Amino acid sequence: MKSSAQNINSKLPKLPESIFTTMSLLAKEYNAINISQGFPNFDPDPVLIELVAKAMRDGHNQYAPLGGIYTLKEVIAEKISLLYGANYHPQSEITVTVGATQAIFTAISAMVWPNDEVIVLKPAYDCYEPAIKANGGIPVLIQLNEKDYTIDWDEFKAHLNKKTRMVIINTPHNPSGMVFSSSDMLMLQSCLKGTDIILLSDEVYEHIVFDKHTHESASKYPDLASRSFVCASFGKTFHATGWKMGYCAAPAELMKEFQKIHEFNVFCVNHPFQRALAEYLKQPAHYLDLGPFYQQKRDLFLNAIQDSRFKFTPTRGTYFQLLDFSEISDESDIAFTERLTKEFGIATIPISVFNKDLVDNKQIRICFAKTPETILESAEIISAI
Ligand code: PMP
Ligand code: GLN
Repeated sequence: MKSSAQNINSKLPKLPESIFTTMSLLAKEYNAINISQGFPNFDPDPVLIELVAKAMRDGHNQYAPLGGIYTLKEVIAEKISLLYGANYHPQSEITVTVGATQAIFTAISAMVWPNDEVIVLKPAYDCYEPAIKANGGIPVLIQLNEKDYTIDWDEFKAHLNKKTRMVIINTPHNPSGMVFSSSDMLMLQSCLKGTDIILLSDEVYEHIVFDKHTHESASKYPDLASRSFVCASFGKTFHATGWKMGYCAAPAELMKEFQKIHEFNVFCVNHPFQRALAEYLKQPAHYLDLGPFYQQKRDLFLNAIQDSRFKFTPTRGTYFQLLDFSEISDESDIAFTERLTKEFGIATIPISVFNKDLVDNKQIRICFAKTPETILESAEIISAI
């Protein structure tokens, strides 16, 4: 249908197609193994599925309260207190959201005014910059160190000024697998101390951390917590990305503003899933076991590709692994991932699309949230490249 509006002044004129859409479609077209977009190819725990079905049978099929059902928010508050020692009030400081994406968009909409600057560390997951721009804000991009994805704190400090409204961090970090250390969080805390800058902390992979690393939540650091929206995803934690369930935790004054936007965006989130998650979260093992579960998958994959021509450093967190192909090809990472899909039957993600100025460091990302069969099949193809 043709639109009768003559001059559509797009808020996001230069938005390319999501790389996750592009690569997943290409994988389908070429019947390739899809280790590009980040999602598990196995189902959530049948116990959790049964809890959802039971909630529906028990009649929890109408609107939930605006911020989420109390029993779920209560168990989320208990989890945060158990893991990070921070106390959020279930009613006034936690909101259940449509995945972390809606939590992130809502926090940005609630806080960012036209011409406010928002610091984004690159490479960055793709949902931050469009949300900032749609709200009239200006993304200020800082590239992480190319080799180990650490932060240059002097550069970071140099970018803070009176117009800085918000800083966005993501730990464990997608796509690099970098995990903020406690000294990073202390540096961040000291950089923001005494300012009115808001922190948006995207912690969707909080339970997927490996080896001796720990997840350093913003909620663990009192001065950071006092200025933070901490966003989380049940999709990542319970192998159910299609459920689009998540939450946000923030001090009451911030959460009040968040809920004003949330109310007129979704009002409330899927009710029966909230009932099920409230019950399932009562057992900490359901999220505490996630690190070892994914570490086994990471190690299975890395052992199987150790003789390949790709170079890599084992990822510290998330279910992603970066692979450096500089010794294999001098193609662009986009051309290389396209060729891998079409000629080798394996779809991966080029990293340049997440970098500042689309810099191409000859790296691709694979997702190992897959069954052992898929991991080994992928590793065999990768080892033959
Ligand atoms: N942040 C990061 C870093 C992610 O990788 C993702 C992707 N799942 C999200 C946010 C969005 O999470 P959700 O699917 O719960 O909206
Ligand atoms: N978070 C997923 C990833 O990084 C993708 C989610 C999406 O498709 N938007 O691969």
